[in-house]
Order: sequence, then C-alpha cells, then structure tokens
Amino acid sequence: MAVDIPDDLIETYRKAERVVVLTGAGVSAESGVPTFREAQSGLWAQYDPRELATPQAFVRNPRLVWEWYAWRRELIQRARPNLAHYALVDLEQATPHFLLITQNIDGFHWLAGSRDMLELHGNIARTKCFDEGHRVDGWPQSDEIPPRCPRCRSLLRPDVVWFGEGIPEHALRAAFEATRQCQVFMAIGTSAVVQPAAQLPLLAKRAGARIIEINPEQTAISLLADWSLRGSAAQVLPALVRALGFPTTAIDGARQSETAQGRDT
Ligand SMILES: [Zn+2]
Repeated sequence: MAVDIPDDLIETYRKAERVVVLTGAGVSAESGVPTFREAQSGLWAQYDPRELATPQAFVRNPRLVWEWYAWRRELIQRARPNLAHYALVDLEQATPHFLLITQNIDGFHWLAGSRDMLELHGNIARTKCFDEGHRVDGWPQSDEIPPRCPRCRSLLRPDVVWFGEGIPEHALRAAFEATRQCQVFMAIGTSAVVQPAAQLPLLAKRAGARIIEINPEQTAISLLADWSLRGSAAQVLPALVRALGFPTTAIDGARQSETAQGRDT
C-alpha cells in the first residue's frame, strides 16, 4: 500500500531538533502481541482483570498473578518486533534529540534497538520485589511461586504498572520535560485515552510542537494533529523514514532476517 507523506510534514520533521514519540498497542498489533483481553483465554477467561493485575490481587493470591504474567510472557516470546519498531530505530538514529515513550510492556522497542526510551507501564520481561521494588535479574532455585527477592525476601512480581498504581515519578517527569521541549510530537498506534499519557499530546500542542498522528482510525488526538496519517504503524513508519531520506539500516536488517527465515510477511 502506498502511503502519502505530505511535503510540509517532511520539511517540518527535517528541521526538528527535538522529537518525542508516544507509542501504544497499535505498534505491536502486527507483531501478534495479544492484548490483556486477548490473552484472557481458556482458564484465564473466568477472572476479572482486577483479580490479575492489581496490588490487591497480588496480596490475596500472588501465585495466580505470577502465573498470569508467566502466561503472557510466553505469548509475547512467541512474537517478534515488526517494521514499525525498526523504523523507529532508524528515526532515532537520524534525529538529533529523540525520545520514545511507550505504553507497551512487551519490550519490543528495546529488542528492535531503540535506546532513548521510557517504558511508562514497565516491561513484562523484568522482575522486581513487591515490598522494596528491588530490580531482580535472577533468584535462587526454589519451589515457591512466586520466588522471593534475594535481597529482602519479599515476593517477586513483574515490573509492570498495575491498575491503580502510579507511573514511576522519574519516568513521568522525563516524559513531561521532553514533551514540553520538542518541536515534533508523534502519537503512534495509541488513542492516548489513559492518563497520564493522554496529557502528553495536549502539552506538546500547547508548547508549540507540531503533532503527527499515525493510526488507522480517528482518535481524540486527531483533533490536535497537524497531520493524521491513516494506516498501520508497520505500513506508515517505514514509508515515513524513506520519505525523509533517512538511512533505513534497521528496516533493511529486519527485512533481510525475515527473508532469511523464509517468512513471506
Ligand atoms: Zn527486595
């Protein structure tokens, strides 16, 4: 599908020193990453999200919550980053100051090669302890589920933001700070209805940034956007990198490895 990138968008982006990108579930959709709801199949369908993803649920039944995240981690491990993730790596490389803010917990931006980034809702591949928030990379073998923190002996939990929990203060501050200073703000595959991410496009607009939206559908951000590119992130982002005339190193690398694996997607 040909994607039409307006000339004035290209001109604006090329001149921008500071770019902030906010991504949501739409970026990982073509990787086949199931959403929270989609993962709630089979055995898991009987539970309310509050029984699986709140601090209260963890205190009541830590084993159930630990196993729910083990299941979701398994689903995510079957998927791979897609061209949208790789195109964002190429954009980061070619932009003087670039910050990627994601609401996704799948870790695919990092896996693809993005480095200047904030994972607002955490990362499902990481583990921390419940009491002290110690980041834990490994723990002694034990039959206990969940295992315990080697430092403080409290139970381990996924390093994600649960319903009813706040986003880590330092991440939030960095997100607002960068958004206030950027000349271009891009919202990709997100309707940004969840706070505090919803505030970011508003803040960018009020600070004078130009807003680019990439989404197959109209969202609340469309009202603020200077440009709304309709299509999936995996279609539009590679076309954008090419239209800007930036190197496509990450995109090309991903295409080559797909060909090598004999995949036709
Ligand atoms: Zn601990």
